[in-house]
Amino acid sequence: MTTTPFLQALAITKTYPGERVAGVKRISLSIQPKKITAIIGESGSGKSTLLRLLYGLLSPDEGEVQFKGERIWGPEEKLIPGHDAMKMVTQDTDGLNVYAKVWDNIAVLMPNTDVAAKEERTNQVLKQLNILHLADKQAFFLSGGEKQRVAIARALITRPEVMLLDEPFNQVDTSFREGLQQDIRQVVQETGLTVIMVSHDPAEVLSMADELIVLKDGEIIEAGKPKTLYQNPQTLYTAKLLTNCTVLSNEDARHCGISSKADNIVIYPEWAAPTNSWTRKDWTVKQVLFKGSYEDLLIEKGHITLRLLNDAPGKYHIGDKVHIKINRYLEF
Ligand code: ADP
Ligand code: MG
Repeated sequence: MTTTPFLQALAITKTYPGERVAGVKRISLSIQPKKITAIIGESGSGKSTLLRLLYGLLSPDEGEVQFKGERIWGPEEKLIPGHDAMKMVTQDTDGLNVYAKVWDNIAVLMPNTDVAAKEERTNQVLKQLNILHLADKQAFFLSGGEKQRVAIARALITRPEVMLLDEPFNQVDTSFREGLQQDIRQVVQETGLTVIMVSHDPAEVLSMADELIVLKDGEIIEAGKPKTLYQNPQTLYTAKLLTNCTVLSNEDARHCGISSKADNIVIYPEWAAPTNSWTRKDWTVKQVLFKGSYEDLLIEKGHITLRLLNDAPGKYHIGDKVHIKINRYLEF
């Protein structure tokens, strides 16, 4: 027995006219239901274009997008663009009526035919997004993070099957961001919602996504579980997207005691550490970047700079001479 794929792209291409060829090229993918799929890539790699194609806000030039086996209609074919079973949330929260209360901003999207159901459902999403306490507040007075929660509540109230997020956390303070990410994960676990999110923040995709798709110049260059892609990226591009790693040339790597045939040697911050050696303290601590529970150390030898993670803050100071042990590296 074959089951119909949930949401899939079949060799879709969308090219924007212009001097430089831009858009997405022959992308095929299958989105797993009830999971969070993250699309990551550098700016201009086609993330938003892909998301809009999946939603039906754009029509592919070639190929097609299917939701439960049926082709998704593009904006030319549909009065209100966007698939009815999906909702998209972007950074701009302009859809909010700033003069109305939070409660009304959310409830307004429910039909008036069953007032009791409308009230119950509104309270339910307010609770899910942890904004029940804001119900009577006028939207005008909300913080950026609170507005984003309201925007997500507005997307969820009609129980879409898929929620698409286009870098919606950019305007949200780091401290609020994590809470919001957790709450979205919770909603996915509790309701079986499918989330497709676009981001360029490695911390965000690594902690939130079940599946990761890496886009470069409009093409998928890698896809898989976040942990797998992080530990064993197949490309330098992916490694650089997912971590603040050091990339050494072949010759520089040799100066660090790594003999390799590859052009690029990649060392993650957690793959090298200062050691207690009496001899060969040939590295100098140049910068200590305090991160709370850990520090990033920038250490130098000649013109080579390495970024290291130090989980014992306070141990090293600028100017200290240290010996380094490199435990692992990648070759590209
Ligand atoms: P991302 O979201 O990854 O930053 P986009 O999907 O927005 O990338 O854009 C991919 C490429 O397509 C970029 O080079 C961008 O300049 C170009 N592009 C996006 N939208 C349009 C458009 N409407 N017309 C022309 N070029 C566009
Ligand atoms: Mg974008």
